[in-house]
Amino acid sequence: MSRFAVFGNPISHSLSPMIHNEFSNELGIDLSYEKILSPIDEFEFTANQFINEGGLGFNITLPFKVEAFNFSQELTSNAIAAGAVNTIKIDNNVIIGENTDGNGLVNDLEINLAESLSGKEILIIGAGGATQGILKPILDKNPEKILLANRTSEKSVQLASEFLKYGKVCGFGINQIKSKPVDIIINATSASIDGAMPALPGGVCKGALCYDLMYGAQTPFMKWGLENSARKVSDGLGMLVEQAALSFNFWHAKSPRTDSVISLIREING
Ligand code: NDP
Repeated sequence: MSRFAVFGNPISHSLSPMIHNEFSNELGIDLSYEKILSPIDEFEFTANQFINEGGLGFNITLPFKVEAFNFSQELTSNAIAAGAVNTIKIDNNVIIGENTDGNGLVNDLEINLAESLSGKEILIIGAGGATQGILKPILDKNPEKILLANRTSEKSVQLASEFLKYGKVCGFGINQIKSKPVDIIINATSASIDGAMPALPGGVCKGALCYDLMYGAQTPFMKWGLENSARKVSDGLGMLVEQAALSFNFWHAKSPRTDSVISLIREING
């Protein structure tokens, strides 16, 4: 049986084994997919061990995506743009790194939520690893512009300047966000994990889609969106399942259905 896995620390919460098992059942592919807790300073050792035991591919989650980038012998264009890797494939003994996070988000927005990105004004809040992964795939869809706001403004200014070669993106501080409506707001901060959200002017959200990368029935950011006349709100579960589907395709050259898996997880989580 071919072996796949997800590496992280912590990892017990990961839904990836369940998602990949659903995909493999649907497509009749015999595989095992396990969670591997890597010690914080031993990612390379743990990954090499898995490969030496015959592992054919693995996902990488926090905090190892940059280490996985450095560990890869070849990189896809998505991985190069993101500077991080969330999917590794062993192909003829070569370790190939890919990043499916950004296109996972784009697929969730375009296919599941029927949102076109072309010509839209998109505000992204946060300038961490997730933002690095989503910027190029969104810019590839030709939005009018991306406004990139971060608590530490130096980070969003720097990131915006690095991605200017892919499209129109402007970096500034969260406290400089204007109370003027945009089309889509993406919360790519980790604030929701602590049940919080950055202070934002309500006017920016009127008529917008508010999308939280974090998943959960109703995150603080989604609640804020509903209270401030958002057109639609969404959590990041669809992105999680879509990025998994793209990883699955990278390994098996087959595209699984995602809608039934998204519904199943929503059902289980109430
Ligand atoms: P990072 O730790 O790399 O970055 C965190 C970002 O959040 C930084 O920009 C930080 O700002 C900002 N931040 C944290 N707390 C606050 C706060 N209280 N107010 C304002 N800004 C804050 O995290 P990631 O980029 O890796 O992850 C971001 C989110 O995306 C997480 O919730 C993660 O779960 C989610 N995610 C979801 C995925 C999915 O498939 N649905 C995939 C990947 C990520 P500063 O720079 O000032 O510190």
